[in-house]
Amino acid sequence: MIIFKSINKLKKKVNIKANVGFVPTMGSLHKGHISLIQSSKKKCTKTLVSIFVNPSQFNKSTDFRKYPRNLNKDLKILKKLKVDYVLIPSIKEVYKTKKQMRIKINNEDKILCSKYRPGHFEGVLGVISVFLENIKAKYMFLGNKDFQQIFLIKKYLGNKFITKIIDCKTIRLKNLLAYSSRNNLLSKKNIKYGILISKIIKKFHYQISKDFSKIKDIENIKNKISGICSRVEYLEIRNKNNLKKNINKNNFKIFVAYYFGNVRLIDNF
Ligand code: AMP
Repeated sequence: MIIFKSINKLKKKVNIKANVGFVPTMGSLHKGHISLIQSSKKKCTKTLVSIFVNPSQFNKSTDFRKYPRNLNKDLKILKKLKVDYVLIPSIKEVYKTKKQMRIKINNEDKILCSKYRPGHFEGVLGVISVFLENIKAKYMFLGNKDFQQIFLIKKYLGNKFITKIIDCKTIRLKNLLAYSSRNNLLSKKNIKYGILISKIIKKFHYQISKDFSKIKDIENIKNKISGICSRVEYLEIRNKNNLKKNINKNNFKIFVAYYFGNVRLIDNF
């Protein structure tokens, strides 16, 4: 495994255009990340994993500072997985100009997370755009846990770069809670409540799939979840193909964002 602390050095040493799969992460690796890496290893000759906690996608500086970081543990995991290349670039190298830090999105896309975390996806698109421009991997692997993120990356960057985007399924604990780096910030009690929330939404999804008129229960479900966590930011049902509200029993997806204290969790079913 070769560790690069600079994108430039990586570009000089590695022929990325040859069948390389790229897995961008913010570190604190868990089984969700590991499944993306395994998908890349299956499909590609070489796998590159980046670890970069991107400041421009945090709308609160305290959230950026408190984001869990575990570099030594991450490197051990990556070594064990026999990842070929790891990129840990500096903020200074990623962003040569302030302009690169954000890509504007249209008002029609300011829904779900992008409505409640202004500037977040602008920052995500900024960093992914810098990476794809420089790295030119054949494939990039992203998790459906961040469904809106994949949607916007495909929409705004999909045609700009040679890299093909592969979306991978959400990995969950047996008890249904989705793996997330932010789970590290939760107490045991809140993890239990998180599991309960996942179960409630999964059941709601099942009920809608059996009887579509059940979508009318959304406010009840939202109230139920509100009683379990500190605050529900949104609970919405949208069309998984365009994220609009024209839903039917074949295209609907339930999206949720909620808080335990300052810790914000998202999921979709
Ligand atoms: P992050 O480190 O949180 O920026 O995530 C890096 C990548 O891992 C993103 O493409 C995420 O969607 C993906 N990811 C995070 N959690 C999961 C999960 N539980 N299952 C599958 N992919 C995930």
